[in-house]
Amino acid sequence: MRSQVEIVGVNIDNTTIDEASKKLEDFLGEEDLSMVFTPNSEILVDAVKDPYFTQVLNSGNLVIPDGIGVVIASKFYGIPIKERVTGYDLMCKLIEIAHNKDKSIYFIGGKEGVAEEAALNIIQKYEDIKILGWHNGYFDEEEEEIIINNIIELKPDIIFVALGAPRQEKWIYENRHKLPAKIAMGVGGSIDVLAGRVKRAPAFYQKAGLEWFYRLIKEPRRFLRILKLPKFILLSLYDAKIK
Ligand code: UDP
Repeated sequence: MRSQVEIVGVNIDNTTIDEASKKLEDFLGEEDLSMVFTPNSEILVDAVKDPYFTQVLNSGNLVIPDGIGVVIASKFYGIPIKERVTGYDLMCKLIEIAHNKDKSIYFIGGKEGVAEEAALNIIQKYEDIKILGWHNGYFDEEEEEIIINNIIELKPDIIFVALGAPRQEKWIYENRHKLPAKIAMGVGGSIDVLAGRVKRAPAFYQKAGLEWFYRLIKEPRRFLRILKLPKFILLSLYDAKIK
């Protein structure tokens, strides 16, 4: 049975990175597509205002707590989440699993050149990994049809989708019956980190739960987005109290 905590209406899996990785291995052996989402505080604030987005997140087969805010909020509901599992770390695990199990990957999203740089960095680490293709994340409806047809032809086992939230989650959900893969995972800015265009916070910030602070210093234009963290804490506190 799935152990989940409902936080502001979204069911989050109470899992460790090792348990989540095991689940991904299981998904690769299944017939149907499994959808993997990685909500953080910012995404959950957006979901509160967007019932369709909440529904999409709740359709995920694995919904990991990507952010210190989500871990804190779980305590308000009396079900403390075991650990923070970041989308970036889980994506790296899935790439490692793909390599070990000889499974293929397709990337969709990011600015022109980003997915290719990410793919080249992965190939440097895992020489014989199967990366079947990629496409940037800026396309219109007509191009989208071509991209999906290309994916249908290539039949990748894993599709990493980096279109920013909530677009990537909705894109996966709306195309779930067309995508001939075992796993589709929304990865957001992790693709930029993989490509080496954005640096992840040093371990100190990560361990202290201050990754958001590091990002704020590095990218001050994120200020308004980061304000969603205290907003999320208040929203979840209120939601937990009335339940
Ligand atoms: N992105 C995209 N198409 C879009 C919007 C965003 O490909 O229409 C990409 C963007 O280039 C970046 C990624 O989505 O690589 C993550 O965007 P965002 O900053 O929203 O995500 P976060 O950093 O919060 O994960």
